[in-house]
Amino acid sequence: MSDIVNMAGNALKAGYRYVTHGMPNVTTEQANERMLICTQCEHFNNYVCNECGCMLMLKTRMATESCPIGKWGNLLGESGNYTPSLPEQPKPTPCLPCQQAREQGIKND
Ligand code: SF4
Repeated sequence: MSDIVNMAGNALKAGYRYVTHGMPNVTTEQANERMLICTQCEHFNNYVCNECGCMLMLKTRMATESCPIGKWGNLLGESGNYTPSLPEQPKPTPCLPCQQAREQGIKND
């Protein structure tokens, strides 16, 4: 019974972390890389992690999540002993006013 309560608590914490960080997702390639690690893990059970109780189809897509035993890290650099070599996130395209300000030398970030 306490396992179920712990797993429900973990899921709630994961949801809270995700929402409070603005619901950031990893790229499809990053999620696939995480899922590949999970499918080869001893705790993988029909797309549920037996260690934390999370649904892996969701967990592997959330940038705020990390493997509870350190097999892959989150993208916030807060936890996880092992972060696979993930490709750089593409830089967002600047909005038109920012682009024009940069071209005019008003803004240079
Ligand atoms: S999250 Fe970690 S412990 Fe859970 S299945 Fe994936 S690799 Fe294994």
